[in-house]
Amino acid sequence: MNKKPDTKSISLTIPAPEKVLAWGMSHFSKSPVLRPESELELKRIFEYANSNKLKIAFRGGGCSYGDASLNKDGIILDMQNYNQIMSWDKQTGIIKVQSGVTIQKLWEFSIEEGFWPPVVSGTMFPTLGGALSMNIHGKNNFAVGPIGEHVTEFRFMTANGKIIRCSKTSNKDIFYSAISGFGMLGCFLDISIKLKKIPSGKMKITPVPIANLDEMIACIEKEYKSSDYLVGWVDAFATGKSTGRGLIHKAVHLPASEDPDFPESLKVKNQILPTKFLGVIPKKFMWLFLLPFSNNPGMRLVNFVKFILGYVSTKPYLQGHAEFAFLLDYVPNWKFIYKPGSMIQYQVFIPKETASGCFKEIFKTCQEHNIIPFLAVFKKHRPDQFLLTHSVDGYSMAMDFPVTGRNKNKVWDLVYKLDEIVIRCKGKFYFAKDSTLRPEVAEKVFPKESLKKFKALKKRLDPNNIFQTDLYKRIFTPSKT
Ligand SMILES: Cc1cc2nc3c(=O)[nH]c(=O)nc-3n(C[C@H](O)[C@H](O)[C@H](O)COP(=O)(O)OP(=O)(O)OC[C@H]3O[C@@H](n4cnc5c(N)ncnc54)[C@H](O)[C@@H]3O)c2cc1C
Repeated sequence: MNKKPDTKSISLTIPAPEKVLAWGMSHFSKSPVLRPESELELKRIFEYANSNKLKIAFRGGGCSYGDASLNKDGIILDMQNYNQIMSWDKQTGIIKVQSGVTIQKLWEFSIEEGFWPPVVSGTMFPTLGGALSMNIHGKNNFAVGPIGEHVTEFRFMTANGKIIRCSKTSNKDIFYSAISGFGMLGCFLDISIKLKKIPSGKMKITPVPIANLDEMIACIEKEYKSSDYLVGWVDAFATGKSTGRGLIHKAVHLPASEDPDFPESLKVKNQILPTKFLGVIPKKFMWLFLLPFSNNPGMRLVNFVKFILGYVSTKPYLQGHAEFAFLLDYVPNWKFIYKPGSMIQYQVFIPKETASGCFKEIFKTCQEHNIIPFLAVFKKHRPDQFLLTHSVDGYSMAMDFPVTGRNKNKVWDLVYKLDEIVIRCKGKFYFAKDSTLRPEVAEKVFPKESLKKFKALKKRLDPNNIFQTDLYKRIFTPSKT
């Protein structure tokens, strides 16, 4: 007779808890952190967790703004040491990597081969595992969809240590649910993704100043078919007829024949910006210069000056891919301007039919509460087929709110009011950016069928519910926190 393995005897050394911070610094958990490097290690940890009622949260680069990769009641598996590039096929553009490989490692590997990741976030520090779990979108979402659409295959370890190969045709249900499944269904092992061929190391960027929100939407609608990337910055302090004013950046791939530095522009060293500002000030100290402006009057001024400068120079210019995609990374620690407080991002996705009125109402409500986003970014989106997708046929606005010891309750009260507007406008939220979503709101914004399917899959793939994060507990099992 086959004897069942005695899983209780599996030993695991659990390290002392360490403080793990959300990217926006508004949440943390004190959790033991394990850093697995192999499938075998992962399997053993899952076995131990199943038999000892231990809860596991995966963590990639820790770039989610809120509590998506924190775990107050269990351990964190930091996947960043699981980071090998496994194979590369220049003919097909398909690269296979372990899920702890970062977007930075990916682009630095591929650009010299003339390829770029098909979808990147505004920072290069997320891992591919984290990127798939949230199904990240880029400034090209309107054209190419989220990152999941470019994944050709991945291997996935479920809670019982079983490894499943998933693609758009094989184990399709898991493919479309694990991508967007915010780490709750299992662990991405290796991921194959098709990279995008780029004609040169540069893009042509055209800045377009925008007087108000309706102009912003109209301009995006006019330009998107002829753009590779489009992103709008919005001055959230502007009121009345100027609500939604800002600046759009349109980016188009530059043919090699028009790139004065081709092929040198494809070298990693030529994509990376200088580490010093004006050749003197190390960029890591630049946030200190922004610190005096980290308040409502200061940010009102910064946003106003940025808006005016948009009119001063509308001349197209050339920019490297990394510089355009990851501009914020080149001001290291910029989030420290929120210290000694922190920040949350509130990103809402609104269908095109209701978008204009919805965003105007959101900005008006913020202004009435005198809690105004220091930074607001506008993008165009298209719908996709992933189970818990955040995308819509419409637009998103990502808004950075400062959080201090004194204003925290007011910020939460405000976003709860904004939630009502978003629900009314049939909008959606995004777990990667979320810090405030409540179960009753999630139930209204995600289709009932999708939630039901997600819960059934969770039960099937993780029957003991070992995969949990603070975000999952907040939104999906609130009574058990
Ligand atoms: C400055 C900045 C700009 C950003 N811009 C964008 C943007 O333009 N578009 C966008 O879509 N997002 C953007 N983001 C959000 C970011 O891309 C996502 O939060 C992404 O998921 C972060 O990946 P990560 O590796 O840091 O994962 P973490 O934040 O550590 O974790 C994210 C989720 O992935 C899960 N996870 C991690 N690894 C694995 C694995 N191997 N298997 C299973 N689950 C796993 C975690 O449990 C968690 O649920 C931005 C973030 C920052 C800080």
